[in-house]
Amino acid sequence: MAEKKKTAGETLAKALFGDHKNAGLLLSDVEIEAADDFCEGYKNYLDVAKIEREAVIEAVRLAKKNGFKVFKRGKKYEAGDKVYFVNRDKAVILAVIGKKPLDEGVRLAAAHIDSPRIDLKQNPLYEDTEMALFKTHYYGGIKKYQWTTIPLALHGVVIRGDGSKVAVNIGEDDRDPVFCITDLLPHLAQQQMKRPAPELVKGEELNILIGSRPFRDDKVSNKVKLNIMSILNEKYGIIEDDFISAELEAVPQFKARDVGFDRSMIGAYGQDDSACAYTALKAILDLDDPEHTCIVCLTDKEETGSDGNTGLNSSYLKYFIDDLARSYGLCGHNVISASECLSADVNSAVDPTFPDVTEAKNSSKINYGVVVTKFTGARGKSGTSDASAEFVGRVRRLLDKNGVIWQTGELGKVDLGGGGTVAQFIANLDMEVIDVGVPVLSMHAPFEVTSKIDIYMAYRSFFVFFND
Ligand code: MN
Ligand code: MN
Repeated sequence: MAEKKKTAGETLAKALFGDHKNAGLLLSDVEIEAADDFCEGYKNYLDVAKIEREAVIEAVRLAKKNGFKVFKRGKKYEAGDKVYFVNRDKAVILAVIGKKPLDEGVRLAAAHIDSPRIDLKQNPLYEDTEMALFKTHYYGGIKKYQWTTIPLALHGVVIRGDGSKVAVNIGEDDRDPVFCITDLLPHLAQQQMKRPAPELVKGEELNILIGSRPFRDDKVSNKVKLNIMSILNEKYGIIEDDFISAELEAVPQFKARDVGFDRSMIGAYGQDDSACAYTALKAILDLDDPEHTCIVCLTDKEETGSDGNTGLNSSYLKYFIDDLARSYGLCGHNVISASECLSADVNSAVDPTFPDVTEAKNSSKINYGVVVTKFTGARGKSGTSDASAEFVGRVRRLLDKNGVIWQTGELGKVDLGGGGTVAQFIANLDMEVIDVGVPVLSMHAPFEVTSKIDIYMAYRSFFVFFND
């Protein structure tokens, strides 16, 4: 049958109107299969890298496997050399040296490897009503009620009195016990249910249940606490004061799973920002002989504002680039000023159940590809790097040229809230930067949802950026 001739209006509309479609309609079966395959590795990463320290260990393991060597300050590297630098076990920089001189700029992708969670207080252990519990202080922006009555695993490190370090990871193995924060039964929650939602469960009520059996000795008080301390001492060689020099983080115990009958989505803890950390990491691991020097920075502390010596508001990335520059007799800030960065972070996806918070024309949707976010911030674009039209244009051309499916999106309606990323801290170094990442449903919840195709498009966007 002959194709029906288009009207003048139809032809004009096709030429002039923006046209972003569901990637599931645009990609071939082979491409969709490639996305699904890619996400098997991603799901594995989600399970082994739930906290920043584990993300660093996993990144270094994969880096070594792919020929990366530990960075040596002062060494003049050759094109094709691959190096990594670990910052205090909680952030890591990977670099592949390019053929072009460093002062033509580097291609940087920066993602964060910390996620919202429940941290233990420094004096956490107590007994009440013959149960043992941990006091906590939550980390990052959470809806506190979401973190009760779900199985929690405990991850982190303890520095013992003699300075030795013990790693803790309990709850992930199917044979491990898990922990949980209890909540009131509905029968007795009439008063609680009248509280405003942010106080439905208060910060000081996020106490983690960790034991209930007493140490059998009539001479001691706090028998349940003593029994727990005795178990911890046997297992980890620690005493109560060692908690003071510990970083113990309670995270959801469940593993990454396919979501939906069509298995098109992934549900897991920590996809903000593992969705971008893993894809950026994979992109640099798969890189060979780039023109420009390419860098991936997996940073800590984004969820609390990027402050601290492992966050991107500190100077560690700048110092790394400066160290690299000086080995070629170059000045670090000249390299930085000539460089470009994709700030790799997630955006909020439109939720059909809560459409009112988003403005349809300017919000990201799952399955529409990687989101290019020109600015974040709140209240009249405060607290953001607003990428220049020129740089947005550059990124748009790059993605189109390479067949990467992308969309644009703002974080919700104007004046309804907002958020930030590391982009502003990169921009403040005098570098071109824009947010590029994956749309997420239920962001910051214990179980966040992404689309497999979007994850794959994030990987492709970082890969083509590095190879450009
Ligand atoms: Mn994020
Ligand atoms: Mn976040």
